[in-house]
Amino acid sequence: MTNQTVTERSHYINGTWAPSARHFDVSNPLDDSLVARAAAGTRAEADAAVAAADQAFPGWASLTPGARQALFLRAADITERRHDDIVHLLAVETGTGRAFASYQVRLSANLMRQAASWGYLPCGDILRSDTPGRTAMVQRKPLGVVAGFTPWNGAFFLAWRTIVLPMAFGNTVVIKPSELAPVSAGLIQAEILHEAGFPAGSLNVVTHAPGEAAALSDAFFESPAVRSINFTGSDRTARILAARAGQALKRMVLELGGYNPMLVLDDADVDHAVRAVNFGAFFHQGQICMNTRKVYVAQSIHDDFVARLAERTGGLLAGDPLAEGVVVGPLINDAAVALTKSRIRDAVDQGATLVTGGTCEGRVHAPTILTHVPDTVRATQGCEETFGPLLIVEAFDDAEAAFQKAQDTPYGLSAAIMTGDAAKGLEMASRMDTGMVHVNGATMAGEASLPNGGVKDSGWGRSGHYAVEDFTELRLATLTHG
Ligand code: NAD
Repeated sequence: MTNQTVTERSHYINGTWAPSARHFDVSNPLDDSLVARAAAGTRAEADAAVAAADQAFPGWASLTPGARQALFLRAADITERRHDDIVHLLAVETGTGRAFASYQVRLSANLMRQAASWGYLPCGDILRSDTPGRTAMVQRKPLGVVAGFTPWNGAFFLAWRTIVLPMAFGNTVVIKPSELAPVSAGLIQAEILHEAGFPAGSLNVVTHAPGEAAALSDAFFESPAVRSINFTGSDRTARILAARAGQALKRMVLELGGYNPMLVLDDADVDHAVRAVNFGAFFHQGQICMNTRKVYVAQSIHDDFVARLAERTGGLLAGDPLAEGVVVGPLINDAAVALTKSRIRDAVDQGATLVTGGTCEGRVHAPTILTHVPDTVRATQGCEETFGPLLIVEAFDDAEAAFQKAQDTPYGLSAAIMTGDAAKGLEMASRMDTGMVHVNGATMAGEASLPNGGVKDSGWGRSGHYAVEDFTELRLATLTHG
C-alpha cells in the first residue's frame, strides 16, 4: 500500500464518523509502510461512545427478531461483497496470509447469518409455583451495554465475534480495537454495519494510540451503563482487566490464550497427523490462540513423523502475505520476533535439537520444529504462550503418561488426539481438561456455530448460540391471580 491510499480514520460513535484531534500511525508489519492514521481516542470520546450505546439500548433491545434478522443478513452480504478489500487490509495491517483472511471473511458472514435467527430463540419459561394462585415466568433479557476489547490476531473475525454475539441477543456494543489493528479489528466492521443500516449507537468503535488502552478503557469500567466486559486477548491483560471488573462488579467474558497439545498415538494415520500438525502449528505464523504448541508422538512412529513433518514444514513459502503461494507472512512486531527467537535460543542452549527453521528475515520467521527439549525449557512446560511459529515434538513410550503431561499446563483451550481407535480417542477426549478437544482433527477447528472457549487460564465464556448464557440474564416475574 502506498502513502496515497492512506486515510485518516475517525471513531464511529452514534452512527457517525467522529473525528479526533490526535492520530497515530498504523504500519505494515512486513515493511513498516504506513497503512492508516487512526484516531488517538480520549476518555471523553470513549465516554461519548458509551453514552451512545446506552441511549440506543432500549430501541435495539425491543427491535423485532425479524427486523434484526434483516440487518444481520444485509451485513453478511456486504461482508462477502467486500472480500477482496478485507483480504488486502488484513495482509497490510496484520501480516495475515490470503487463506486465513479469506477464511475469516467466510466465517464472519456465516456467523452473521446464524446470529440473524437467534432473536427467535425461546426467551423464557413458565414455571409451576408452590404458592396457590401464582404463576411464575422466567424471562431472558439482554444485559445493556457490552464493552468489547478486540485483539489484532484473527482481527477481522474476532472483532465480529465480539460485536455480533452480544448484539444478536439485544445488547448494544462499544468496542476498543487493538492499537495494532484498529481498522481490521473494529473500524471496517463499523463501515459494514453502517452501510447495512444498523441503528445509530447500536455499535460504537473508539480507537486509541499505543500505551493508552488503560486510560481510554476507564470509561468502560466506570460507567454504570456498561454491564459486561467482553475480552479476547492474552491472559496477561485479562488479569489486569479482571481485577478492574471485580472492583466495578461487572460481568466478564474472557477468551484467552492456549497451549493446545496434540497426542499422536502409535495407531494414528501418520500422514493425516502430519498435515494436521503442520496446519495447526504454523497457520498464521503460529499467532492463533488455538495453534498447536507441542506434539507428543509415540516412540515407534516418532522419527518417521518428524521426518515427514520437517519436509512439509520446510516447503512452506514465506514472505509477503499477498504474494502468490506465500503461507508464512511476517510476525506482528519486533517484540513477537524477539520472543520467538529467545524461546528457540533458550531451548537450543539447553540441549534441544533444531530440526528445521530457526532463521528470520526481517519479521518473517521460518516455521521452527524442536525435538529433545528438556523439561526445564519454559516453552515446553506450556507456562507461557509463545505466540509465533515454534513447535516442540516429544516422543513417548507411555500414552497415559504423555496424556497427563499434556494436561500439565495452566492453559485449557484446545487439544487433539490422533488415533486409529475412535473409542480410545473419545475416552481420552472425555478426560481432557480443555474447552475444546478434537479426535483426529487439528487443534484449530473454528466454525461459527460451534462453541469456542477455554477453561483454566484460557478463560471462560462460549461462542455460537451458547453465548446466550453470557450475554443475557434471567428475570423472574410472577403473577398472582386468585
Ligand atoms: P493483548 O492482551 O495484548 O490485547 C488484547 C486487547 O486488550 C487489545 O485491544 C489491547 O489494546 C487491550 N489491552 C492491552 N493492555 C490493556 C490494558 N492495560 N488496559 C486495557 N486494555 C488493554 O492481546 P493481543 O496481543 O492483541 O492478542 C493475542 C492474545 O489473544 C494471545 O494471547 C491469544 O492467544 C489471545 N487470543 C485468544 C482468543 C480466544 O478466542 N481464546 C482468540 C484470539 C486471541
